[in-house]
Amino acid sequence: MAHDPSEYDIEHPPSADEWLAMDESERLALVTRAHARSRARVGSNAAAHAAFHVIVENRLAAGHTVVVNAYERFRASGVNRHNTVHALASVATQHVLAVLQEQPGFNQEEADRDYEALDPAAFAGNR
Ligand SMILES: [Zn+2]
Repeated sequence: MAHDPSEYDIEHPPSADEWLAMDESERLALVTRAHARSRARVGSNAAAHAAFHVIVENRLAAGHTVVVNAYERFRASGVNRHNTVHALASVATQHVLAVLQEQPGFNQEEADRDYEALDPAAFAGNR
């Protein structure tokens, strides 16, 4: 069955190939609509929330090993997909903020260590 992009669902995302075939603005629009449809909480800035979803989905679709491993660890421990994406986004957020504030560049090794250290138990209340 052909994928209908207007029906993007955070719990049941398109395949990596379908995701990667879309351009960034399309991805942002889909994530924004999915949150609006489900009335999910997006904090004070819906655009920033969507942007961090897209960053995480891009990493997962690209098969970035530490991100995929952290993702699988969370899912195996029973955290739903949406909250798992938020947990992974918490690492991305922290490192992007560090770049904006002071650090000379995005430190991938440090980010990878944080993905590995991310603890599903800390997000257990969000299942
Ligand atoms: Zn979200």
